[in-house]
Amino acid sequence: VPELLEIEANRTLAEVAVGRTIAAIDAPDAWWLKEGATADLLAGALVGATLAAARRRGKLLLLDTVAGDAPGPTLGLRFGMTGRLLLDGRATDALLYSADQSIEAGRAEWDRFALEFTDGSRLVVRDPRRLGGALLDPDEDRLGPDATTVTRAQLGAALASAAPLKAALMDQGRVAGLGNLLVDEALWRAGLDPGRPARSLTADELAGLHKAIRATLRVLGRRGGSHTGDLGPMRAPGGRCPRDGAALERRTIGGRTTWSCPVHQV
Ligand SMILES: [Zn+2]
Repeated sequence: VPELLEIEANRTLAEVAVGRTIAAIDAPDAWWLKEGATADLLAGALVGATLAAARRRGKLLLLDTVAGDAPGPTLGLRFGMTGRLLLDGRATDALLYSADQSIEAGRAEWDRFALEFTDGSRLVVRDPRRLGGALLDPDEDRLGPDATTVTRAQLGAALASAAPLKAALMDQGRVAGLGNLLVDEALWRAGLDPGRPARSLTADELAGLHKAIRATLRVLGRRGGSHTGDLGPMRAPGGRCPRDGAALERRTIGGRTTWSCPVHQV
């Protein structure tokens, strides 16, 4: 499942297409177009515009355009559970994640959306499970601060909630970009129980969590994706804490399977 690190890799791939002019939109799957977007609307807004920037907020990829000298619309792309970005048939090589070549070899019937450029190149979202989507001028402020740049104070404000710590961290309106694997890894590194009320953190614990989120993103980004955490190989029956050897605990928190250490995560 793509989390912040995978979308960031998609962003760097999309950046290669900055400067190219959109010749056509290929949107064969109306279900995949969200919040009132239609193939006609997207074509009317985007054809003739030039890709000006590839940005990211949380798990949302934002493609800014210019039309002549004026700023054009922004296309938002969501990748859901299985969405991958391909430029001219190739996924990014920025992550281990993309070592899985099956998506490139995957079927064209999974291609939900494409920008076709005047130079003949194509930027495609291939999404077998169809849980991603394309949006025109998405409201970016519905998303919380991005997890890579969130300040300690912003994180504290985001966690002013009675919800379990893990659920609050996965709420994209509070902090944007973290999913199941990144949150479990960051909480394991910080030594915090995912089931604790988010607002129960002391100032020291908040500082530790902030540091752990940054370290998780940095280290796992370098290793090759959200699945490369220290906890990753232990997310299975019989899994043991890589720090102290305790048998890991498995719970469902915030609707997601959660692995944590009952000894050092308190
Ligand atoms: Zn432990």
